[in-house]
Amino acid sequence: MARYFDIVVAGGGHAGAEAAHAAARLGAQTALVTLDPAQIAAMSCNPAIGGVGKGQIVREIDALGGLMGLAADATGIQFRMLNRSKGPAVWGPRCQSDRHAYARWIQQALSNTPNLTVLAGEVTEILTEGGGVCGVGLASVDDHSTFECRAVIVTCGTFLSGLMHLGEKTWPGGRYGEPASTGLSDSLVRCGLELGRLKTGTCPRLAAETIDYDRCTRQDGDGDPQPFSFLTGRLDLEQVPCWISATTEEIHDVIRANLHRAPLYTGQIQSTGPRYCPSLETKIERFPDKTSHQVFIEPEGLSTNWVYVNGISTSLPEDVQEFIVHHIPGLERAKILRYGYAIEYDYAQPIQLTAALESKVTAGLYLAGQLNGTTGYEEAAAQGLIAGVNAALALAGREPLVLRRDQAYIGVMIDDLVTKGVIEPYRMFTSRAEHRLHLRADNADRRLTEVGREVGLVGDDRWRQYAARAEIVSAAHDLLTGARVGGKTLAELFQRPGATVASVLTEADEPARARMAELLAGSRRAIESLAVDLQYAGYLAKQQATLRQMRQLDAKLIPSGLDYLAVSHLRHEAKEKLARVQPRTLGQALRVSGITPADVTILMIHLAARAGACAGGK
Ligand code: FAD
Repeated sequence: MARYFDIVVAGGGHAGAEAAHAAARLGAQTALVTLDPAQIAAMSCNPAIGGVGKGQIVREIDALGGLMGLAADATGIQFRMLNRSKGPAVWGPRCQSDRHAYARWIQQALSNTPNLTVLAGEVTEILTEGGGVCGVGLASVDDHSTFECRAVIVTCGTFLSGLMHLGEKTWPGGRYGEPASTGLSDSLVRCGLELGRLKTGTCPRLAAETIDYDRCTRQDGDGDPQPFSFLTGRLDLEQVPCWISATTEEIHDVIRANLHRAPLYTGQIQSTGPRYCPSLETKIERFPDKTSHQVFIEPEGLSTNWVYVNGISTSLPEDVQEFIVHHIPGLERAKILRYGYAIEYDYAQPIQLTAALESKVTAGLYLAGQLNGTTGYEEAAAQGLIAGVNAALALAGREPLVLRRDQAYIGVMIDDLVTKGVIEPYRMFTSRAEHRLHLRADNADRRLTEVGREVGLVGDDRWRQYAARAEIVSAAHDLLTGARVGGKTLAELFQRPGATVASVLTEADEPARARMAELLAGSRRAIESLAVDLQYAGYLAKQQATLRQMRQLDAKLIPSGLDYLAVSHLRHEAKEKLARVQPRTLGQALRVSGITPADVTILMIHLAARAGACAGGK
């Protein structure tokens, strides 16, 4: 008899770890099958979590009850708030991580998760019956060749038919030193998914003791490091500096002279890479007038001599990489421990998925992470969490968790993926979020903890701490909107340029100041977050009308399988695009690229007429 699990997660990267944790926490008997359990949550590229747009996602994962924020806090070796020169809406928390400690922390958390079994092996096939998942085919998993299950979450990252490139050399692989997964792609195609190819690349790694740090500029973390998780009180690990250097004109000349040996330019690599994380050779081609590019020299941990050289991702041949590295000031004597390389891999166009991240054609088949055309640990982890939650909710007969665009960056990302699809690796930016004044890193707990509690991911401890902070925010809000100075409330004073909690309090009377001091002692972080709300209050109020309109459109469901070709007066292009995406709501239809408000009005009239016809019994 085949062994049975409710849910099988294929792949233990950042997506798989969150998916397995979330599904098991919701009570589903879950198996996480991954090629090498010692590589669970490995950082394939830079040893860092968060950043602009990405840090907001980590806080959201944390508020929903996921793992990434806690793991980053426990293993971060340099915390910085990026974008501080801009408004708090776009501040991005980031940390340099001890990459081995990070992976170990997640592995430990998974081994302590009830209902979860972690197994070494390869998922080679998705088994289906009657249009839905009924199991998986396996290779190298103890003595089992299949597991029965009711849902599968595929999170195979860069491993599906992975092909690595270093100069003229190519070889199959999923990541340096790890094998590719070859059988599963065909099975996904048999399940009705169309696959494409994307590409990414990474930088050389160096030995710390061979770097001349005196020739580099030191970059320290923040003096008051801010943790990711709303549960973290204190950051325990030693904080270390990173270092900055730069490429030179001589390096650029040598790269130009060797482009005929660069896989990206010889035609050896055919697929598209991340536009915002380009290789050094691409930067030199794209910005010919720039004589120098910054290079960030980042330690990979406290107990390793491996150093990551951020900014020189390359797949040029070894001899050119040696030249590049040895002509960067401070790296003249540096020993390369691993050369940079590029990888091409299969991905599935995400418009083939519902907003729950489930395949539109095979029930019970969920996809998450790099496989959906995204890039980045945070993007992967967030999708994993949502897929894990939704697979478990579906088995329990509950409605899926679909976060709105005005509720979370995670909502923005998934809506973008399933509505617009991808033509290049997708990463998060604050500019993708039209409601970014509201979707901030500081208020992620207020936006999402209740959602996490409702689905069952937020445990009692987190809930108690959240409730205590919510009480503090509510009391502070009452105080600030109640107390007046010179005809204005204290709350209104926050709208002055540069106002802070401290500056506003200097104008308050003694009892208000004393009460506020008590509340600040309860949670300074919560009150500073409220202060940002008050600062943006005018803008946020103006957004309300647009928000209401969009919510109304998002509440209007489109019947599944609607025949768009039969919608009269709709433009031909609109019919084709809508038929391809099959949006779930009128709001989503409006966000399909190329669809105009006029198209949505026609669709709305069609749906109203159809509903009228049905009501009339025709
Ligand atoms: P991964 O982290 O790739 O994990 C996939 C997991 O699935 C692995 O554990 C693997 O063992 C397992 N697996 C695969 N196939 C099977 C199978 N059939 N059965 C069971 N288990 C399986 N991100 C950036 O943001 N910027 C960058 O510049 C960048 N550069 C990168 C460069 C390289 C060379 C690589 C490899 C990745 C790079 N990334 C970069 C991407 C980043 O690593 C990913 O976005 C992130 O790791 C994706 O997480 P994931 O969980 O989707 O997949």
